[in-house]
Amino acid sequence: MRFPFALTKKIASHIIKHKLRKTPKFAMVLQLEPLHTCNLTCTGCGRIREYSTNLKDMVPLEKCLAAAMECDAPMVSICGGEPLIYPKIEELVAGLREQGRVIYICTNAMFMRKKMKDYLAAIYSPAVEPKLKKLLDQKLISDKDAETIRNSNRRGELRESQTSKKPVIRPTKWMYWNVHVDGLEFTHDLIVEREGVFKECIEAIKMAKILGYQVATNTTVYKETDVQEIEDMFKFLSSLEVDGHTISPGYEYDAAKKDMVTRLGKQPEDFFLTRKMTRQKFAKILDWGRAFTIFGTPVYQEFLAGKRELTCTAWAIPTYNIKGWKAPCYLMTDGHYDGYREMLAKVDWNKYGVVDGVARDPRCENCMVHCGYDPSGALGTNYQSGDNWKNIKYNFGAKPRPFPSSPELAQRAFNGFTIGKGHLAEAKAAINSPAAGARGAFSRKEEEHHETHVSTVCGTSDTSQRDDLLAKIKNVKKIEVGPE
Ligand code: SF4
Ligand code: SF4
Repeated sequence: MRFPFALTKKIASHIIKHKLRKTPKFAMVLQLEPLHTCNLTCTGCGRIREYSTNLKDMVPLEKCLAAAMECDAPMVSICGGEPLIYPKIEELVAGLREQGRVIYICTNAMFMRKKMKDYLAAIYSPAVEPKLKKLLDQKLISDKDAETIRNSNRRGELRESQTSKKPVIRPTKWMYWNVHVDGLEFTHDLIVEREGVFKECIEAIKMAKILGYQVATNTTVYKETDVQEIEDMFKFLSSLEVDGHTISPGYEYDAAKKDMVTRLGKQPEDFFLTRKMTRQKFAKILDWGRAFTIFGTPVYQEFLAGKRELTCTAWAIPTYNIKGWKAPCYLMTDGHYDGYREMLAKVDWNKYGVVDGVARDPRCENCMVHCGYDPSGALGTNYQSGDNWKNIKYNFGAKPRPFPSSPELAQRAFNGFTIGKGHLAEAKAAINSPAAGARGAFSRKEEEHHETHVSTVCGTSDTSQRDDLLAKIKNVKKIEVGPE
């Protein structure tokens, strides 16, 4: 099966239960943001800019669990900020599991290996040695790590429950690491503004697969995204036996850009990933859905490919964070509410989305994001004959085979920092070259018509901040080179 049977059954029964009860609006996935602190500062991340990233501003564990209980979504995506910084992340995962939910830990992967080493230490016995050997052989842990793991539980006498009350994040079919992957190495590291992050993501994914975790990835496509790079990224991730991928078009509403359209008469295409452009980018989504394990219904995929219309059902993927229930959706903030039911009742949902090609709110005009429209495909909004069958066939169909791994594929993936061609290396080379400034870190991208920027931010994704990044790097260059 494409997805684990137990998971598919759980989600299907949730929908059927509410359909039979004729519940008008209900939650499918809770986007839970226990904190907005992050160890990275990705270009275009709305979360670390919109909210406080102070570590004191966190949702207490009990409130996180109560939010999940209240909306009763069968799936919870723990995002942020970086959720692995949340001091009670293990307790949160354990608590959500006790509630019987499917969990996605939406992470930039920088602390994943640390959390998996904690797990190994907690379960260590000689039976773990073959796995340790594999991890050592692939240099996914160091000799020192292995020793620490062994010493933490050398005689197998102390078990997790005895050593400390602190749980660990264990592999289970009910949980996915959901790793942000922004493209191949050069692009990813550029977007997250740090070299080596892509390499860490891949090493964490490899380690997770060896230990039996389920791993998904999460990618957002923007105006500049090169479709071929996305396909190469899927091939590479599939060769690592990643279990599923979320892919969604970026949301690029920005008041300043909109103002330029209305006031200065500029074309929206100059700034936005318009619906038309999204449909072009996603023209092959149905083929990708056949070749790779893409999450999301085929109905949503048809919507992305421009084969049909859907109506936004943002209430089905609610977001809960330090300020409460965020309305109307993960992307836009018109208010926060204390309760999910209160939000459902007080928000005028008819003000949002695009219906029959007409945007009810200008900010929704170009939005086709998965958190607004993927549930629409599952819930039968704009139902067309045969949709249910399509969804069933997709979910219960055979899982696509992993793409064959090859040195050539890996070479295409590691096209930046690993081979000494990271964006900072390029910047330094440009600075040190006699023609400094003639070809900067980003000029390669600027010269090409098809720039490659793919971002999977767990926050909102306004790419206008990419301009800030370019300016920032140029300033660094000026400082390093000195006044002209
Ligand atoms: S259409 Fe998009 S931006 Fe508008 S409410 Fe729905 S999810 Fe939010
Ligand atoms: S996109 Fe995610 S990883 Fe990047 S800065 Fe924002 S919260 Fe952190």
